[in-house]
Amino acid sequence: MDNGSDTGRPLRVVVVGAGVTGLAAAHAFESAGIAYVVVERQAEVAPPAGATIGLFPSTLRVLKQFGVLDLVEDGSDPFEDGFSNRDARGRVLSSPSWRQCLRDNLGHDFRVLERRAFLQILYDALPDKSKIRLGRTATKVQDGPDAVHVDLDDGSRETGDVVLGADGVRSFVRQAMWEEAHLEPGTVKDEAAITTTWRCLFGVGPGEPGRPNAISVSSFPGKRSVVVSHQPNLSSFTFFWKTERRPLAARTRYTADDAAEAAASIAHLPLDEKRTFADVWDRRQRAQLVDIQEGVLSRWHYGRYVLVGDAAHKVRD
Ligand SMILES: Cc1cc2nc3c(=O)[nH]c(=O)nc-3n(C[C@H](O)[C@H](O)[C@H](O)COP(=O)(O)OP(=O)(O)OC[C@H]3O[C@@H](n4cnc5c(N)ncnc54)[C@H](O)[C@@H]3O)c2cc1C
Repeated sequence: MDNGSDTGRPLRVVVVGAGVTGLAAAHAFESAGIAYVVVERQAEVAPPAGATIGLFPSTLRVLKQFGVLDLVEDGSDPFEDGFSNRDARGRVLSSPSWRQCLRDNLGHDFRVLERRAFLQILYDALPDKSKIRLGRTATKVQDGPDAVHVDLDDGSRETGDVVLGADGVRSFVRQAMWEEAHLEPGTVKDEAAITTTWRCLFGVGPGEPGRPNAISVSSFPGKRSVVVSHQPNLSSFTFFWKTERRPLAARTRYTADDAAEAAASIAHLPLDEKRTFADVWDRRQRAQLVDIQEGVLSRWHYGRYVLVGDAAHKVRD
């Protein structure tokens, strides 16, 4: 395959961010034979942060192409005991058989695994780790006529034909792209596209013997809901509160005390016939209170800039 650019040298992509999107891009470039480098601010590829990632059949099909589907399936358990929607007293409202429905129609289950375990699987399966440069933060992007240069905080520079901003919802590459695009007035109208309307308390804990291998979603008065999942080796909870809409720039960094206070305010809420939120909270290994951003940009590229993942498209209500 000819991946040459009009500069006479092979096409090279500088990927900023080694989250799920950046590592997935690395796999795609490996498959396509495109030269790339990934730079990542974190020193570890899979730091102990975040909770779980849910993977639907469409994603699992891509993971099969990357050759990591078996590892993802080995590292997670299908929700054999099903799915339930529950009311504010923990009673089952409905138990749709969507697991079977997904399998019958799309050929795969829904899987949940720890985000860090998923990142580790994606990283381990890449053939050349020297292309993933950890502990380096992109600090400047310069888009030129023949190449794009990405300066890093260790004083080094990566040069390529395209810079791929896979650097998350607060993307630095997106900001650099907007600054260049503003030189051409009217090109970008996305500054207010991403907002926050949900606060979220999430966490993970160990599996619990005797508990069903299942997912439940409960709704409570006051625009609150919780998703609780349980597998033999992993349990997780994600509790949402609807809040007033705020711009992305209005950032709140919640402390562990804020998380504990939020958990105390919902501790009494029933999750099913036997358990309250306090039961899953008390078993947590890790938990965090965060704001959840939402929004989709109208423009995902400009010049040699391309935005992907949360940098361009964050879940929407
Ligand atoms: C620490 C963390 C924990 C998360 N936990 C969960 C979770 O439990 N459940 C869930 O559903 N979603 C979680 N998310 C969000 C989820 O990962 C994304 O919504 C989704 O996977 C798409 O990811 P992404 O790769 O586009 O962005 P992200 O996952 O945000 O990854 C962006 C990456 O870019 C790196 N980066 C940012 N700026 C720079 C820079 N200037 N130079 C170099 N690198 C940079 C970041 O360190 C990060 O590794 C988490 C995100 C983060 C960053």
